[in-house]
Amino acid sequence: MNGQDNPTRIADDVVVSLDYTLTVENEVIDTSQGSEPIQFLQGYGNIIPGLERELYGMETGESKEVIVAAADGYGEIDPDAYSDIPRNEFPSQIPMQVGIELQIKDQSGDILDARIDAVTTDTVRLDFNHPLAGKQLVFAVQVVALRKPTTEELEHGHVHMPGHAH
Ligand code: ZN
Repeated sequence: MNGQDNPTRIADDVVVSLDYTLTVENEVIDTSQGSEPIQFLQGYGNIIPGLERELYGMETGESKEVIVAAADGYGEIDPDAYSDIPRNEFPSQIPMQVGIELQIKDQSGDILDARIDAVTTDTVRLDFNHPLAGKQLVFAVQVVALRKPTTEELEHGHVHMPGHAH
């Protein structure tokens, strides 16, 4: 085997450049069209598990549609991930409207993304679930390029993009 050759199929420890379009309920949520393909190191959970699993064995140039169940995507909706806040404790600068997205600092100082789920006479109900929780994800993907990782990328378990030191 020539050590300089790029891999031809997706396997663990291969850096994948992938074009993708994510559709949820017939609506395009995210796409690499018009920008660069995503790059990631296969086998390290750097992308959604249900998608990563279906990519094994794909060749450069190959296209595929991958359907990912909610459980293998952003998870099922957690019924405990809701919180009712008294209206009078709700920040006055944020509109009290269903669907408004906001960030809340929890007791340990972490910032959490939330959406207003309901507004009642006394409370504002916040939903802390990921907006794509409970949803089936449909990915249209095409393998753009495959390469071997650098030693450092392999040690870190992720791709190093130019200008991104970590
Ligand atoms: Zn790193």
